[in-house]
Amino acid sequence: MLNVPSQCFPAPSSQQRSASGGRSKVPLKQGRSLMDWIRLTKSGKDLTGLKGRLIEVTEEELKKHNKRDDCWICIRGFVYNVSPYMEYHPGGEDELMRAAGSDGTDLFDQVHRWVNYESMLKECLVGRMAVKPAIPKGSHEGKKVLNGMLPKSPVTDPLPKEGPSSPSYDWFQTDSLVTIVIYTKQKGISLDSVIIDHQGDSIRAEVIVKDYSYLLHIELCHDVQEDFSVRVIENVGKIEIILRKRENTSWKCLGRPLENDNSLIPKKDRGLCYRKCQLISKEDVTHDTKLLCVMLPPSTHLQVPVGQHVYLKLTITGTEIVKPYTPVSDSLLSEFKEPVLMNNKYIYFLIKIYPAGLFTPELDHLQIGDFVSVSNPEGNFKISRLQELEDLYLLAAGTGFTPMVKIMNYALTYLPSLRTMKLMFFNKTEDDIIWRSQLEKLACKDKRFDVEFVLSASTSDWNGKQGRISPALLSEFLKTNLDKSKVLICICGPTPFTEEGIKLLHDLNFSKDEIHSFTA
Ligand code: FAD
Ligand code: NAP
Repeated sequence: MLNVPSQCFPAPSSQQRSASGGRSKVPLKQGRSLMDWIRLTKSGKDLTGLKGRLIEVTEEELKKHNKRDDCWICIRGFVYNVSPYMEYHPGGEDELMRAAGSDGTDLFDQVHRWVNYESMLKECLVGRMAVKPAIPKGSHEGKKVLNGMLPKSPVTDPLPKEGPSSPSYDWFQTDSLVTIVIYTKQKGISLDSVIIDHQGDSIRAEVIVKDYSYLLHIELCHDVQEDFSVRVIENVGKIEIILRKRENTSWKCLGRPLENDNSLIPKKDRGLCYRKCQLISKEDVTHDTKLLCVMLPPSTHLQVPVGQHVYLKLTITGTEIVKPYTPVSDSLLSEFKEPVLMNNKYIYFLIKIYPAGLFTPELDHLQIGDFVSVSNPEGNFKISRLQELEDLYLLAAGTGFTPMVKIMNYALTYLPSLRTMKLMFFNKTEDDIIWRSQLEKLACKDKRFDVEFVLSASTSDWNGKQGRISPALLSEFLKTNLDKSKVLICICGPTPFTEEGIKLLHDLNFSKDEIHSFTA
């Protein structure tokens, strides 16, 4: 799996070429792939020039290291010498130089806050900032205690005035139960807005309130059973976490606050939290795409909202690698159950295995019973975009089909207003079409749904549509009586495909509000 192909890098199809967050990636020189970087970090070479010493870095000192061959960057209070990494950075050297000799936390978070830089850059660690910039007044991150984790950015924005009012929590007990109640003060909180992990004697509950993250994080003062139940009282925004005591003793207190307990910060500033999930099944879907099912631990409550993705993490030759994946339903044809109603212990993924890729071959090598770490959900799709929708158009290329799966299931099950739902699915060949027969069956079963396959490398016996996304294909596909109807067009695939599609949709006079594109 360490074989790196000798063609130009990244290959035209490489994920390392596709931009995340709308940025273009640059071609890297041969021998400068992520795997090459990992090899270099394991070679024992002194990558900081400090012979393994860690130093305290003042702001003045940091500022001096602002050249390509001597470039230090601070991320969340830790300083890295990134000069050796320059040629390996998929976003290019210029992008890294934007943060040279300064605090790059904000820049980093804007582009790829999910990238596991602590692991990737550990051999480049110079040390910590000696003097932390003052924490802005009103920031709830102020009480931070380092608990074996990197500190968050000291430049977290203070809460804007229009943010939600801070939730609070309380608890009560019976002989056998302890109930923690979180008052979000926000109507319409649903079960997928709360993610709970109970590990050892600590409980961590993150509640998503609009674009903010509220955290409850405590070390319980007595033992409880591993599993627990959660109840949401939507109309008052109350969440109850019901724990079962191991012993029927009366608790004098709930426990001790841990790092960031009772904090409310913008969601983008909260670090990703992972839990280990077990691989339950793995089945072939096409020649290179598999349906993987993983099981959450009993001590976790997590439901991935429609249209959102998670990050999977594996340790590959000693370095933690993280990549985003969009959970799907187990099938297009089984009855769709809203996340709230699901026995939410299983998460399904449709994953294309790239033989020369870094992450997917490792995933493919996992055996049933092995573990992979799964993050909290992320993404900017809001289910409210589907409300009262009449016409839903889905443009998917390759595995860009994955976010469409739950959207399709949800729309057909829960949108009484839905009149038509059409999918245009772009692939290279017939063999690449994911769930083709399910899509065709669904089109027969439900009159509202229609699917068109478009192939870019079809064989001569293909009678369907051919080519890449184009004005002609789109205007024909979208040719219905759209006047005055409420319409949404979702688009997902390789970044250039998505960018081209958005441009063409604007040319066809669709507004920003009528288009949703999926990106990292
Ligand atoms: P990479 O290492 O990125 O390689 C990909 C391609 O580049 C391969 O063809 C490989 O041959 C080529 N390549 C790699 N290294 C070299 C080299 N040195 N020289 C030449 N060529 C090279 N994917 C899914 O399958 N399912 C999903 O549900 C899904 N959801 C996603 C959600 C989001 C929000 C985003 C942004 C992406 C999603 N992806 C999904 C894509 C996924 O995150 C990965 O990018 C993908 O799995 C490839 O990872 P990899 O490390 O195996 O491949
Ligand atoms: P693929 O098989 O390489 O390509 C699928 C189709 O897209 C092919 O017909 C291909 O045509 C076409 N295409 C590729 N580049 C294009 C371009 N520049 N302009 C127009 N059409 C183009 O795709 P894949 O390997 O499955 O990759 C899927 C992509 O979707 C990945 O980049 C993945 O990261 C992304 N994805 C994103 C999300 C998300 O953001 N939420 C979720 C899932 C997947 P050609 O044969 O002519 O190249």
